[in-house]
Amino acid sequence: MAINIVLAGPRGKMGTEAIKMITNDENFNLIACIDRKNNGKSLDEINHVCENSIPIYDNAKTCFEEMEPDVFVDLTIPKIGFEHTKLALQLNIRAVVGTSGFTEAQIDELSLLAEQNKTGCIIAPNFALGAVLMMLFSKMAAKYFPDVEIIEKHHNNKVDAPSGTALKTIEMIKQSRDPKKQGHPEEYEIVEGSRGGEIEGIRVHSMRLPGLVAHQEVVFGSKSQLLTIKHDSFHRESFMDGLKLGINEVIKLQKLIYGLEHVMDLD
Ligand code: NAP
Repeated sequence: MAINIVLAGPRGKMGTEAIKMITNDENFNLIACIDRKNNGKSLDEINHVCENSIPIYDNAKTCFEEMEPDVFVDLTIPKIGFEHTKLALQLNIRAVVGTSGFTEAQIDELSLLAEQNKTGCIIAPNFALGAVLMMLFSKMAAKYFPDVEIIEKHHNNKVDAPSGTALKTIEMIKQSRDPKKQGHPEEYEIVEGSRGGEIEGIRVHSMRLPGLVAHQEVVFGSKSQLLTIKHDSFHRESFMDGLKLGINEVIKLQKLIYGLEHVMDLD
């Protein structure tokens, strides 16, 4: 039976790609969208990638209660995405969240809610399967190369920094590396921020430029050698295989997972 889906953020760049992917998949059925600007209109009136007349709501609660979706997909901004996801889980609607920038406290709150309500939720800082592998390979490498810095590059419309992918990469590296102060013990910055942000000694540098989509290099340094693990997303379609996997897998879950690696076959 097809999975009935509600999507928030249908006019966005990710939302537009997601509509194409969902409406082209015979196992998925897009039944409504949430968009603050187009209440009462239908999707074909506001987004040229969709020819079907799918209802649009500006109120997530009304949408969830009237449409009763199997899965809710959020591709908006952190503040709104958090509110939507909390509401979905409160109503026992499974959620797949691509929106980045949730705080640790927000993820913990959603995790508790998902567990209490036995409702599946996947928060994926990066849906690109290559990026998930980059993070896993970084975790493996950090065991042998504890000196590491991250350079992440995104388009200049991104509001949060560092990226959710960089934060998730650090979280995974931390699982195989003890905290370590890197660089010269007496290093100092002439220009504030030159050495980037820092978590447990890992430096992270965020670049924002037009022309970029989503790119990350994890650079490991050691005696006379460098190991660089690099991933590039050149177009938002790179995220759609992971979103599809997330929708198919969230149906089987009764708790929240953070990161697609938990539902990928990695044996
Ligand atoms: P985008 O093109 O700017 O789209 C954002 C969408 O959110 C728009 O439809 C926008 O509608 C809506 N929105 C913004 N503020 C809102 C508000 N206050 N209330 C309701 N809706 C609001 O961004 P994007 O590139 O599609 O990215 C969307 C999200 O996905 C971001 O959080 C981004 O970081 C994340 N992302 C995740 C992945 C992943 O793999 N997990 C990959 C790429 C991006 P308006 O026009 O009304 O503002």
